[in-house]
Amino acid sequence: MGCCGKKTIIHTGKNIVKGYTRLATDTLHITEKYEFTDRRVRACQKCEKNYWIGRRLFCSICKCFVPAKARVIDEKCPLDNPAWRIKGEEK
Ligand code: SF4
Repeated sequence: MGCCGKKTIIHTGKNIVKGYTRLATDTLHITEKYEFTDRRVRACQKCEKNYWIGRRLFCSICKCFVPAKARVIDEKCPLDNPAWRIKGEEK
């Protein structure tokens, strides 16, 4: 995660930890999914740039594991898919 846009290695590392942590806490029902997570995942499921390893969904451009990346608010789609934008930043 975090290879989309100009980010430092530290920022990328933080987002990877954030995404996987949030995925774990959502799965354990400790937290609730953000409203944007499912929208982002659905967009990636339909995207021609996705790929699957078993039942795991990845982006072939950024190589991210989509369910984790989709839980980090400041992550972006490298193709700027509108479904990845947060309310208020629509163009
Ligand atoms: S992050 Fe963007 S480019 Fe990558 S699979 Fe999802 S919609 Fe496609």
